[in-house]
Amino acid sequence: GRTDFMTHASELRRRAAACVPGGVHSNVRLIGPDDIIDSAKGAHLYSVDGTDYIDHLLGQGPAFLGHSPDFLTEPVCDAIRNGMIVGGQTEREVRAAELLCATLDWADMVRFGLSGTEMVQAALRLARAVTGRRRVIRFEGHYHGWLDNVLITDRDGAWEAASAGQLASHLDDFLVLPWNDADLLADVLARDGEQIAAIIMEPIMINSGVIEPGPAYLERVRRMCARYGIVLIFDEVISGFRLGTGGAVRRYGVTPDLALYGKAIAGGVPVSALAGRVDLMRRIGTGEVNHSGTFNAWAPGMAAVVATLEHLRDNPPYASIADYGAKLMAGLREIGESVGEPLRVEGLPAAFHVSFGEGDVTDYRSLRQLDLDRYADLADVLVRHGVWVAKRGIWFVSAAHGMAELDETLTRFKVALKDWLVG
Ligand code: PMP
Repeated sequence: GRTDFMTHASELRRRAAACVPGGVHSNVRLIGPDDIIDSAKGAHLYSVDGTDYIDHLLGQGPAFLGHSPDFLTEPVCDAIRNGMIVGGQTEREVRAAELLCATLDWADMVRFGLSGTEMVQAALRLARAVTGRRRVIRFEGHYHGWLDNVLITDRDGAWEAASAGQLASHLDDFLVLPWNDADLLADVLARDGEQIAAIIMEPIMINSGVIEPGPAYLERVRRMCARYGIVLIFDEVISGFRLGTGGAVRRYGVTPDLALYGKAIAGGVPVSALAGRVDLMRRIGTGEVNHSGTFNAWAPGMAAVVATLEHLRDNPPYASIADYGAKLMAGLREIGESVGEPLRVEGLPAAFHVSFGEGDVTDYRSLRQLDLDRYADLADVLVRHGVWVAKRGIWFVSAAHGMAELDETLTRFKVALKDWLVG
């Protein structure tokens, strides 16, 4: 193991703990991986003490095209040098919006923001405005940001406010259902359908396992939303550009009324987007539904969106990511088998989930049957062996991962797994 004392990182951690609660700026990071990073390039993170990590966390998803690729940093730096904020409109933001609408094809209009969290709020507000209804259906294990009305935790099967200080009353209008169960949803809607403003979901659940929608599930949800006049919101903050340029909408061929994007849309510059049909989105443009923000359409972010979308159009990385991810998934499984430790490696090549345990996984409840704590323990050991991964089992793959990284990751994984098994 690593000896922490006397390292530059341990000194920086001590200083951080003195002036930053928990030493981190997002509570997600309280559970690691934990080292002090000096720089990042391509598929690698370099720590202040010289460790070269292969990165399979990718900043929780944004660094989909690798860290700081030149095609991105050049236009972003150019935007930074030429006025970051104007308090008016720029040609760059017009191009970014046009490109995004053209890329998504089903969406007529977009609004840009900074975080996924805030765009969830814009979508919910818009859905309530257009329907004149209050109630929202969402799903177990899906994450939609950290604000009072959406942050929940599972306490023995009861979904409750997750944070001290959170106004639990803000959760009153939210009904939390198991996902991937269209019959159950049909029953709920038969009773309450006319009162529901929106159904919001990750169309592929990536925040708890990586679980695809079952056959015809999304189609049935789509039909029920149409029937009851419910706004269907896809939260594609992770899936959006990672599964393909059209995200889950194109992969599964089901069109929502509104969708949210973030993370990979701008390669690491904070940008999020709300996309939708004109009949809904225009209500924001009339001023009737408020969506605001000093930094919305921030110039370096718009440069990043244009650069990313042009890059995805001209050099689509999806085939090589699929190839890399498939090889990595197979390699991890083989290593597990070779040491007599069957590993579950499930999901898509661009985002998959590693765990231990038995049984079919189709939703949050079946996922919880797995031995997730056991993998969390292994994840710590993987980080110590130079593979930067999250405890919750998610692995992201970027376009910058090449065959050298594949060999190295599998080698490190094998050594780490053996070390961990001997304790
Ligand atoms: N929705 C989903 C599906 C997410 O994965 C996340 C972030 N992990 C968010 C919303 C919130 O985005 P942000 O952290 O940018 O506020």
